[in-house]
Amino acid sequence: MQAVKSRIDAASRACGRDPRTVRLLAVSKTHAPERVREACAAGQRAFGENYVQEALDKMAALADLPLEWHLVGPLQSNKTRAAAERFDWVHTIDREKVARRLSEQRPADLAPLQVLVQVNVSGEASKSGVAPAGVAALARAVSSMPRLRLRGLMAIPEPGAPAERYHELGALYERLRAELDFDTLSLGMSDDMETAIAAGSTMVRIGTAIFGERAKVRDAA
Ligand SMILES: *Cc1c(COP(=O)(O)O)cnc(C)c1O
Repeated sequence: MQAVKSRIDAASRACGRDPRTVRLLAVSKTHAPERVREACAAGQRAFGENYVQEALDKMAALADLPLEWHLVGPLQSNKTRAAAERFDWVHTIDREKVARRLSEQRPADLAPLQVLVQVNVSGEASKSGVAPAGVAALARAVSSMPRLRLRGLMAIPEPGAPAERYHELGALYERLRAELDFDTLSLGMSDDMETAIAAGSTMVRIGTAIFGERAKVRDAA
């Protein structure tokens, strides 16, 4: 955890940013609840999960801790209710229909669900996320949904993507931020957090560099 914080610090300073403007999301997918508990003891509060069911199991095992849960994996429409009821953030909004369901299903006694629109920066048909040209329309639609609070954009550039992709996304984020009043660019993982921070990321999603390698089986999902 400390090594990752040092990397965030160094990367921020290298491009003249205040390290406090970059939040660390610890991605705990495939790792046991005990590892989350240890990270919490070290001061980490925000955790990311990819699979709804795995997250629900972990939440149940860690219900005594004051954690903030982020869904960073693809959201199928049959899982929206659990996501709306149990998560604090959803990073992977890429269809209006899914956003609408989340808004309808978010319980009235909870704060609005914090959401990000996922941008497909690589242009691959197989990847999730909305194409850059469609981001503004989806973001505007989401920002009007009563039980959602649009916080910004998220992307997963393919491994080895040029820095230019990151900067294009940073520019899109800045353009829309002026109109939609949001504050979060979720960008950067263990291998690319420096590039992401240089492009304006305000939230890096870090798994391996905190918890170590994951078993390969679930990673493919
Ligand atoms: C697994 C995952 C991460 C963390 O990746 P690492 O390379 O282990 O840091 C971040 N974001 C998403 C969407 C992921 O699925």
